[in-house]
Amino acid sequence: MKCPYCNHEMEKGLIHSPHELNWIKGEKRKLLAQSFLREDSIVLSEFSMMRGSACLAYNCRNCKKIIIDYADEAIDLNYR
Ligand SMILES: [Zn+2]
Repeated sequence: MKCPYCNHEMEKGLIHSPHELNWIKGEKRKLLAQSFLREDSIVLSEFSMMRGSACLAYNCRNCKKIIIDYADEAIDLNYR
């Protein structure tokens, strides 16, 4: 995948966590950010007690951008 900012080749990798991975709107950190508590959140990886959570992401080391295409449900390694 080519970086949409600088056109360099991006590296495929993972972002992982021992907790659910989600994006939430705004800039304030939330103490309780789990998706079931927030209707505006986007779940990037469902939580798994055994495996934690992980989603595919592409990294551009040239301009230091990481891109997650959450239109593709397969980015969530716990999605099956
Ligand atoms: Zn780039």
